[in-house]
Amino acid sequence: MLMQDYTMLRNEMVKTQIGNRGVKDSATLAALRKVPRHSFVPTDQVANAYEDRPLAIGYGQTISQPYIVGYMTEIIKPKAGQKVLEIGTGSGYQAAVLAEIVSKVYTIEIVEELGKQATTRLKNLGYKNIETKTADGYHGWKEHAPFDAIVVTAAAEFIPPPLKEQLKDGGRMIIPVGSPYMTQQLMLIEKTGKSYRTTSKMPVRFVPFKRSQ
Ligand code: SAH
Repeated sequence: MLMQDYTMLRNEMVKTQIGNRGVKDSATLAALRKVPRHSFVPTDQVANAYEDRPLAIGYGQTISQPYIVGYMTEIIKPKAGQKVLEIGTGSGYQAAVLAEIVSKVYTIEIVEELGKQATTRLKNLGYKNIETKTADGYHGWKEHAPFDAIVVTAAAEFIPPPLKEQLKDGGRMIIPVGSPYMTQQLMLIEKTGKSYRTTSKMPVRFVPFKRSQ
């Protein structure tokens, strides 16, 4: 397929799947129009890259549905100059979308091979403001904390306390919370001083948040 065909499919995806479902933030929509989602999926999934669903990326993991990526990006209110932490690099797609808007993205993946692939992919695509590491994201990334926002893309049974601590005053975190392999709730956590306000946003299904032994 030609590059302009992918661009057309992507613009259509952003309009019908994301904009029409209520994502309005112009920076978020512009980032989604820019990032070549087809470059983040395995070869056998390229033809499906702009479909309205998550796709398998190997190791039992998935790249999230485009709408969910748009929703999670908009809700943290990303702005130029900010520093964002992502847990669950996966393909690197969500990290790339964030990196189009904020100044610096730190992203952690627990599956070493996926982390390596995403690191190479992001480098080849020219992203210079994304730092990756292989680790259990439960502990966050202390050296670079606090963060303006944290995006967790694997379903945790509870909100990891270190992640709450690593949010800035005024910071926002979006995280799916619930049992693995069941419907979870996408939760927004807003930090003010030492207090946290938690709001349930919508039912979602994410792959489980794993813990290193
Ligand atoms: N954000 C990804 C979606 C990835 S799916 C994308 O845009 O493609 C969730 C990812 O979280 C999987 O790759 C999984 O291996 C990873 N993961 C699960 N538990 C984790 C943990 N404790 N720390 C870091 N990554 C984790």
